[in-house]
This record gives sequence, structure tokens and C-alpha cells, in this order.
Amino acid sequence: MMARFLFINCGSEGHINPTIGVVQELISRGEEVVYFTIEAFRERIEKTGATVRTIDGEKFIKAFISGGRNYLPERINGLLRTADIVIPSVLEQIEGEDFDYIIHDSMFGCGHILAQILKRPAINSCTSFAESKASFDSMLEHLSQNIPTELVKTINDDFQSLTTKLKETYDVEIRSPYEVFCNPAPLTIVYTTREFQPFGETFDQTYKFVGPSMSLRSTQENFDLTAIKGKNLIYISLGTVFNQAIDFYRLCFEAFENTDHTIIMSIGEKTQLSDLGEIPKNFIVKNYVPQTEVLKYTKLFITHGGMNSTNEALYYGVPLIVIPQSADQPIIARQVAHIGAGITLQMQSLTATQLGEAANHVWNDPSVHEAVANIKESFQKSGGARQAVEEIFKFKRAYNGTASNPNA
Ligand code: UDP
Repeated sequence: MMARFLFINCGSEGHINPTIGVVQELISRGEEVVYFTIEAFRERIEKTGATVRTIDGEKFIKAFISGGRNYLPERINGLLRTADIVIPSVLEQIEGEDFDYIIHDSMFGCGHILAQILKRPAINSCTSFAESKASFDSMLEHLSQNIPTELVKTINDDFQSLTTKLKETYDVEIRSPYEVFCNPAPLTIVYTTREFQPFGETFDQTYKFVGPSMSLRSTQENFDLTAIKGKNLIYISLGTVFNQAIDFYRLCFEAFENTDHTIIMSIGEKTQLSDLGEIPKNFIVKNYVPQTEVLKYTKLFITHGGMNSTNEALYYGVPLIVIPQSADQPIIARQVAHIGAGITLQMQSLTATQLGEAANHVWNDPSVHEAVANIKESFQKSGGARQAVEEIFKFKRAYNGTASNPNA
């Protein structure tokens, strides 16, 4: 039977991209999807056939960062603060409607709370590595060690008062920081494979590792791909969030300007092309490129190690130099090195010579190419968006077979 899905996803581009294929597939199989996001992604999501509704992206970010940005527990409180922006807005915009299932992002949008308020079975769309409660708690403990003692009490009190307020307002129980940061659900779709996931074997059957869910970019039409075919192409990008790095972009010029490589460099929307000075002839520099297309012709990707960028590159068999900036990127960098699909460099101490030598090394190392070929094969076999929808349909069938609510 056709079902109505409420999709909650207020994250940045990396949280959106893998969901596009999933929504497209759900709709092509006759399901209905109402997708809550920020205005910036409206067009891309409307193309899938979903009904798009928005929450205020500026207010959302403001609430998120008002929790504090230095420590993980502060970011958890920031996520709790976004409840005031997301929940009333969603509830108001769906008033009188009924949904069968909720699909929510693993981090942004208070999906776990909304699933409880609406008493609907939920599916977690996990765009990074999955975290079990145990692995998350130990990371939280580790990252909390450096918090100044006077701040610890403030942060804890903040968590208590925010969760108490949510309990009073919506009658929802928030039992742990894990629930806030990872939004656990009875089904979790992870957009990578179990082999690439750290400690993949420890995750139970409620986690489905469907592999990369690839989707085309809207700027596709504006980029001349014929100019890069058959070149010794290196692609450089620090993703869409932690990408303000003029010194790094200039260092890349220095490292590769007198080589026979063609270099595509995506510098993000926050840096102006004119800030970079003279651009070497063998560089194509843009604020944004259709990455999933560019990667098809790329021989080496110098990346910040975002989960999507890494998945996409390995899907097309591209070796990596990972220069992690923040968030989950150090963990992803470590995992890339661990499977032998590339190497990691540190931004702070990086020199042009070092980057140039590292590129030559990775480019010419047969063991890297072998590791990348293996992971490429397993990624391409994994099914991606189609497999995600298979799992969602199995979940639907199991849920319809039981009278009870799996959230209960
Ligand atoms: N992306 C793109 N063109 C660009 C830069 C990024 O299409 O010029 C896409 C990229 O393919 C990926 C997403 O933006 O799907 C970035 O997500 P990721 O998890 O790699 O990094 P984040 O931006 O979240 O740090």
C-alpha cells in the first residue's frame, strides 16, 4: 500500500545529497514524500517530485551555534536549541495531515523528537559513519576531557533545562546526549558499506549499510566536462562547510602550477575567485562544480574527507589525499588510510613541496590503486539509493505485520 513519508532534514548539502536518490526512488515506486528542509535546497528536492516545505535556515543556524561551538556537548545543546525553530514550524505546517513514516537526518532537524511527538515509526538517514551508543559515549567522554571545569556545570545545566522544557512542552523523554546527536531509530540507513564503517561488524540488523547514494548536481549544465576528459586530472575541494582557506588554495597553485596536471579546484561559495590572485594556466577554479561528474574523470582527489566526498570518490575509484578540517573528517581520514585508499596530511604543517610529493606518491603507488579498485567494486555493488528503498519497503512490511508501534 502506498504510504506518506514525512522527511525532516535541515542539514547542509552533505546531509541532503544522498537523500535525493532515495526520495526519487520512493516517489517512482508510488510513495508520497513531504520534505522539510531550508530554502536553499528547495529546487533540487522539488525535482524529485517531493512536496517541499521549509524551515527558516538563518534562525536554525543561529539557534544551533548559540549552544556554543567549541566542545561537542555544546553542539549537542545547540541541536536541542534548534527544537524551538524546527518543531513548532513543522507541526504548524502539517496540521491536520497524517503521515505513515518519518525519515529524518541523523543529526539536524530533531527527527528523533518529532517521531516521538507524532508517534510514527522513524527511519534515520545517516550521512556520516554510524555511531552506536557505546562508541558515541566513549567519544563524548574523550572529547569532554578538555572542557574547563567551570564550563562543565554550565553545559550540563543547559542540557538539563533544555530537555526538561521539551518534556514539559511536548511530553517527550530525551534520555541521553546520544539521542540528540545521533537520532537513533528502529531503522538506520547508512550511505556507506559495512567494510568501510569502523567496527562495521558490531552494528546490529537495524543498521543497513546501503553504500553511496549518488545524485547529479544542479549546476551540471554550466560546467564544460569535455575540457577535462583525458587530462591528468587532479580535483581539489574542501567541501561546502569548512572551506574558507585562501592560504591552502594558494599553496595548491604553488604545488601544481608547473606540472602536466590539469587541476580543478572548487573553493566554495565563501571565497571570491578574485581573492586568489593570478590563477595558473593549468587550473580551473570555481566556487562550485558538479562533483559527481568531475570525479568520473579524476585521477587524484585532494579532499577534506567529508563523508560524501569520500564515498563519491571511492565509488568512482579515485585515490585520495585527505586533509581533514573538522567534524567527523579526522575519523574518515583515518579510515581511508586504514584501507589503503590514500594518505592523510595535516593542514597546519602543510607545505607546497609536501603536497606535490604526496600527490606523486599516491598517483604512482600500485597498492593504493589496488585498494581503491577493491572498495570501488564493493561500493558499486552495494546498491545505494535503490537498496535504501528496498530496506525501507522491508521495514514497511515488517511494521504493517505488527500492530505495535516500533517507537514505543
Ligand atoms: N559538492 C559538489 N560540488 C562542489 C563541492 C561539493 O557537488 O563544488 C558536493 C559533494 O559532491 C558532496 C557535498 O557537496 O556531496 C559535500 O559533502 P561532504 O560530506 O563531502 O562535505 P561537507 O560539505 O559536508 O563538509
